[in-house]
Amino acid sequence: MKLEEKFNQTLKKIKLSKKEKILVALSGGKDSCVTAYLLKKFGYNIEGFNIDLGMGEYSKKCLDAVKKLCEQLGIKLHVYDIKKEMGSSMCYIRAKVQHEKKGLKNCAICGVIKKWIMNREARKLKVNKIATGHNLDDEVQTFLMNIFKGSPELSANSGAVTQNVKDKKFITRIKPLFYIDENEIRKYSKQKKLPVIYEKCPCASDSYRIQMREFVDSLTTKQKENVMENFEKLFPKIEKLKTSEKLNYCKICGEPSRKKVCKMCELLR
Ligand code: AMP
Ligand code: ZN
Repeated sequence: MKLEEKFNQTLKKIKLSKKEKILVALSGGKDSCVTAYLLKKFGYNIEGFNIDLGMGEYSKKCLDAVKKLCEQLGIKLHVYDIKKEMGSSMCYIRAKVQHEKKGLKNCAICGVIKKWIMNREARKLKVNKIATGHNLDDEVQTFLMNIFKGSPELSANSGAVTQNVKDKKFITRIKPLFYIDENEIRKYSKQKKLPVIYEKCPCASDSYRIQMREFVDSLTTKQKENVMENFEKLFPKIEKLKTSEKLNYCKICGEPSRKKVCKMCELLR
């Protein structure tokens, strides 16, 4: 099946409507760029959102690519400047967190902070959904990492659409590239000559994920699809492993959280 067909099939599966306003989280990389390009191509109502992490030249290049893309697509771009909004760059925030909480990986800290920002800003912008560029490879890696760590329940909320979280303060996240191989996405972005930064984030140093990425890279598309297919069959069973903490609001920042204090405030306090 062609990439565009798979993309549309996923949107059908998650019942995305053209009436909904979707905020596409744009990093400057190929995946989120292709996500925005295709959503626009198929007539969805989208706007772009970039978190400028303030990581020197790399962040500047990413933001330039995102600006170019939004201009080409004729869509509005919202930029969240982390230095202005939070007082320092991601590198500094991360170093501070790691000073107190040793052993936490760069990508894990950055991921928590980005999700927190995305949800809050998307809510302010009154959009219906957030779309990210996560692809089949990312999801297979995450799933396998959770299995190897002995925490398959961490995968319970995974899927092309966030499951089981119904709360007015939580903005549903969708992953239209959930079933698409990273290599196909790279090829497509080059074919369409999209403005993309192919460089990896200079701070991505999570050795465990890198190891898993090398393994997933060695699989064929069919094998990756099989892992995902089986993973989805396991969903209902994994669901039962989850602790029954229901969604609450963080007592520090007021954002949706499963614990009394959200992951973001836990990191920064
Ligand atoms: P990553 O966590 O870097 O693998 O990125 C996964 C997805 O999160 C990307 O495909 C984007 O949709 C989104 N994302 C990552 N970094 C940013 C950023 N700086 N600004 C906006 N969205 C981002
Ligand atoms: Zn909080």
